[in-house]
Amino acid sequence: MLQPKKEKITSVKGMNDILPPTSAGLEWFEEKIRDLMARYAYRNIRTPIVEHTALFVRGLGEVTDIVEKEMYSFEDRLNGEHLTLRPENTAGVVRAVVENSLLHDGGKRLYYMGPMFRHERPQRGRYRQFHQIGAEALGFSGAEIDAELILLANALWKELGLKNIRLELNTLGQPPERTAHRAALIAYFEKHADVLDEDAKRRLHSNPLRILDSKNPLMQPVIDGAPRLRDYVDDESLKHFDLVTKILDANGVDWSFNPRLVRGLDYYNRTVFEFVTSELGSQGTICGGGRYDYLIEEIGGKPAPAVGWAMGVERVFELLNEQQVLGLGRHEPHAYAVVPDAHMIPAASVVLEQLRGSGVRVQMHSPSGASEGMGSMKSQLRRADASGAHSAIIFGADEFARGTCLVKSLRDGEGAQREERLADATLWAEHLLPPATS
Ligand code: ATP
Ligand code: MG
Repeated sequence: MLQPKKEKITSVKGMNDILPPTSAGLEWFEEKIRDLMARYAYRNIRTPIVEHTALFVRGLGEVTDIVEKEMYSFEDRLNGEHLTLRPENTAGVVRAVVENSLLHDGGKRLYYMGPMFRHERPQRGRYRQFHQIGAEALGFSGAEIDAELILLANALWKELGLKNIRLELNTLGQPPERTAHRAALIAYFEKHADVLDEDAKRRLHSNPLRILDSKNPLMQPVIDGAPRLRDYVDDESLKHFDLVTKILDANGVDWSFNPRLVRGLDYYNRTVFEFVTSELGSQGTICGGGRYDYLIEEIGGKPAPAVGWAMGVERVFELLNEQQVLGLGRHEPHAYAVVPDAHMIPAASVVLEQLRGSGVRVQMHSPSGASEGMGSMKSQLRRADASGAHSAIIFGADEFARGTCLVKSLRDGEGAQREERLADATLWAEHLLPPATS
């Protein structure tokens, strides 16, 4: 009897599959990151994707975009715990560092990569599941660490060959300086309450700093005249900031001072920074971070300073595509095995396993769909060609009977071929590898 066709189940809106060949490009990118992190002595940390909701509420601050409206939170059906899919990973790293007493023998340099979840309106460069790579240096208070993290990100852009990325810096000062500035801001905006929009009014007493971030053109004149944080920042903070910029200058890193840069989260103090491009539309921030000397204590640890950044992988990747950076990972096989007759498969598979053991990427022909048999020699060779492989290993009947196979070049135009002994695969494997590039 004919069954009705089942309805398709689709992916969740804003959560995307990453398919080949894009996935190979991402693997290549991740390889670069691992190598670079090792050169700066940052070590990998992996924390769970699900955390207690309280971690983010306390860590990021109650009146932030993320906590107010972007978190995927749910109650555990079995024990009623309040849980959240991580919207970012700094809070999780800090929790793990505190929980495992990682700072007992000094500061730690850590990095992570992985998926984050935010319930936002999906658009270019903004997804509900996206990926971040982040670097965090915990337990260090010196300005040289702030600079080190910025140099690290900058080195990545250079190695990837990315251009037109601006670095913007600001200093937020310390909590007492911010408290004084905050009081002045509230007094100032109260005086101009008639021009504030709904969002600004709501934030006036909870997070007035965020009003400075507003894109509402009607409020710009009032925002421009608001008390400036830099007039409240004390000498120690200015000295800290000065050393950060001196290190950047010494290394020829361009930067600009952006007094409006406050970042979305509550936990920052002193140095904050963003790497921005104008080539990605309105989602132009590819990496952002800063110092968060009070977060560790907030999460219940012994007070210790820290600084870090997070980059949006999708945005960096889109910029790579936009600027047509070549060299994205390629995972084509080196060799494609043509097996005309199914009875050869067991013996052929032994040869292919030996080749793979010697580092050769081998794809064996397998007929697609429900067709019977292995398919004609001609159709198999067509597949071999389409696979991108440089060589075909052909298990022809005559050769097979002699204990050999043919290795045929697919790319030299003449189709040169050699006969090789099946028993000696490890000896001729190296001829299938591409010439070493040194
Ligand atoms: P934005 O202002 O664009 O919303 P944000 O301040 O919320 O960014 P952070 O929390 O600082 O972003 O996250 C660090 C980086 O992660 C961002 O600079 C961006 O590159 C990336 N990112 C943030 N949210 C998303 C998202 N929804 N989709 C893709 N990338 C994102
Ligand atoms: Mg955001």
